[in-house]
Amino acid sequence: MGVGFKLFELMLRQKLLDRGLEGKPNSPLIVSYAVTRACNLRCLHCHVSAREPMPNELTLQEAMHAVDELASLGTEALIFSGGEPLLRKNFILALAEYCVDLGILPAMLTNGLLLNRRVAEELKDAGILAVGIPIDSIVPANHDKLRNLPGTFDKAIQAIKTCLDVDLEVVITTMALKDTYAEIPQRINSLAQLGVKQFAVYDLVPVGRGKDMMDQAMDQTQRVNLIRYLYQMQETKDLLFTMSGGIPLYPELVSKMHKINGTKPCNLFLKQFWVHDSIGCHAGIAYFSLRPNGDVYPCTFLPITVGNIRERSLTDIWFNSPVLNQLRQRNLLKGKCGECQYRSGCGGCRGRAYACTGDYLESDPVCLQDLLVEQGVSPSSINCFGWCVG
Ligand code: SF4
Ligand code: SF4
Repeated sequence: MGVGFKLFELMLRQKLLDRGLEGKPNSPLIVSYAVTRACNLRCLHCHVSAREPMPNELTLQEAMHAVDELASLGTEALIFSGGEPLLRKNFILALAEYCVDLGILPAMLTNGLLLNRRVAEELKDAGILAVGIPIDSIVPANHDKLRNLPGTFDKAIQAIKTCLDVDLEVVITTMALKDTYAEIPQRINSLAQLGVKQFAVYDLVPVGRGKDMMDQAMDQTQRVNLIRYLYQMQETKDLLFTMSGGIPLYPELVSKMHKINGTKPCNLFLKQFWVHDSIGCHAGIAYFSLRPNGDVYPCTFLPITVGNIRERSLTDIWFNSPVLNQLRQRNLLKGKCGECQYRSGCGGCRGRAYACTGDYLESDPVCLQDLLVEQGVSPSSINCFGWCVG
């Protein structure tokens, strides 16, 4: 199936049926693939502790073979990440074209440092559908401090403008942190003035180098206020938001708020990548992460190797990994999540549960149950759509 038809089908689903990705049951609908561990930055919060490349990263031929398997498993979108994927630019371009040929939508995350006009055009020509670029503060010094290198803010802004200039869709990935929380409205407004419409707002999960800065994680009041604020923004602006990094029920909450207030209940999320019939945390259910050396994690924020594609087929890993099969059984959850009325629809962030307790089936210490109850979200109504793919 060509990408043209695929996009047309998605647009129809979104505009007419109010639906996003659907896919076959038990499919990894969205997969992220860290093409390299190498990075030209050393960000303080990097959840994969990116540094030099791994010595044994997958070759193009091996990666193409993985894409063949993804296509037969029913994957609809593949997100290239890293490290910095543009350090393997030719690899990305070839793999994106291959995805398009097989009907898989390719997207990419980049820090923007290597993204000039020629590269943006190459990405677009290869079929990359959207590029995620980070802006972690609208105050350049704050962004640069987190990114651990002066000048990165200006380069990221330039990369955003360049992508928009060549009609390459941009999603801003942005950290919501305690110290920079107050400037989030200014950040969103300034970026919206550049022409950006889509934002993936990340909560901090204690994984990778992020573990060392958990004093910067939002407190629960900030988190809840942020959800209310993003909901309000969707009321007044033509902007799309999602919350990633362990807030799996954000879409349901905001959808419910819109319904209660009789306001627009659709167009809430990153257009091409919202998942119909979501079930909160997608890790191992509708999503997994492929690592540079062929290891498979349930999620980038749940770094447990459940197999390696050089040793076993992806299909075998996806269907037969004991860890993935446990993640699919919410009745195995423990503690508060195990007893929770929302466990089938939410499930908590399995990555944060693992990072905080050492057990991926334990409770997620960040829980929005009170807000769910307050907003009248009934456990049985959680079946609409969602996004949390790490
Ligand atoms: S206890 Fe909280 S995090 Fe866990 S399933 Fe219930 S609502 Fe979700
Ligand atoms: S473990 Fe689940 S909730 Fe947490 S970041 Fe990954 S997909 Fe999202």
